[in-house]
Amino acid sequence: MSDWRDNIRKTEPYVPGEQPQEGNIIKLNTNENPYPPAPAVAKLAAGIDTDRLRLYPDPDVRLLSAELARYHGVRDEQVFVGVGSDDVLAMSFLTFFNSDVPILFPDITYSFYIVWAGLFGIPCRMPAVKEDYSIDINDYMQENGGIVIANPNAPTSLYEPVENIEKIVKANQGSVVIIDEAYIDFGGESALKLIDTYDNILIVRTFSKSRSMAGMRIGYAIGNEELICALKGVKLSYNSYTMNMPSIILGTESVKDEAYFKATTDKIIKTRERITGELRDVGFKVLDSHTNFLFISHKDVPALKIFEELKKQKIYVRYFNKPRLDNYLRVTVGTDEEMDEFMKVLRDIIM
Ligand code: PMP
Repeated sequence: MSDWRDNIRKTEPYVPGEQPQEGNIIKLNTNENPYPPAPAVAKLAAGIDTDRLRLYPDPDVRLLSAELARYHGVRDEQVFVGVGSDDVLAMSFLTFFNSDVPILFPDITYSFYIVWAGLFGIPCRMPAVKEDYSIDINDYMQENGGIVIANPNAPTSLYEPVENIEKIVKANQGSVVIIDEAYIDFGGESALKLIDTYDNILIVRTFSKSRSMAGMRIGYAIGNEELICALKGVKLSYNSYTMNMPSIILGTESVKDEAYFKATTDKIIKTRERITGELRDVGFKVLDSHTNFLFISHKDVPALKIFEELKKQKIYVRYFNKPRLDNYLRVTVGTDEEMDEFMKVLRDIIM
């Protein structure tokens, strides 16, 4: 007799960072922003007309797409919005990676890429990052069915100059190159300027980090109209109403407040630079971060021990039990007060 269990799709799910429910912790483990969303977002949230929840939201998310188009100086038709950049990236894998030739992404990068490749049956090849954890652009000059580069990369925090990104895009005009810019607002120049020159580049962004709205689940892609149209076709073949109404209107409001956005990202960058110096002073190797997190390793004390000791004292950071990563910790940049407490506890641990 057949067994329905044989027909279950086999998955190897992504493992997200912990979201502890206890209070009174310092949470530096999932690269959230320590500052609240723009003040106008709170004001608008309080006044949401709940009667509108009777209605389906706009399947084309026009309000938010138009605001993002204005912000980035592109046409509305060049923007695709999704439920967090995870949704946008998953849709992009499904839409653009349909070749039998393997797609390429670095062996050390956002670990969801390999999960989507597995889920959608996309063959992939993962060139090893160099000794210093940066990518070798020559690895992306081989035949492929598509390319994904997180820039800046996670969890390494390293930024690849946009000139090198252009070389990859230029050399691969037969495939779609996705540049995941989840952390670009914290440093480095965006590859967005390349979309007018190359029709094979897709830029993916998120509201989860620099816009302090991880809980709203908003991400988007920008590219030429043909890429965006293809993405919309796949999305509308799957689920018409992915973006809920509050996310659409609150996300739109957030984009309008440029001054607050700049002030909070600048603050995080300043804290990051200060803590980088302090960590180096006490024997940590700290990669040169262009993100809202630090990738660190101590010269004497194993990362796992530090991770466990921090947790005992209610400070959560991220540890990856994987080759080449297992003596590193990824530490989100919090407020100055949180980082001072982190440093205080850390100094005691490594003493
Ligand atoms: N890309 C990278 C490189 C990330 O680190 C993350 C955060 N986990 C994401 C995409 C997804 O972010 P979100 O779905 O919250 O937009």
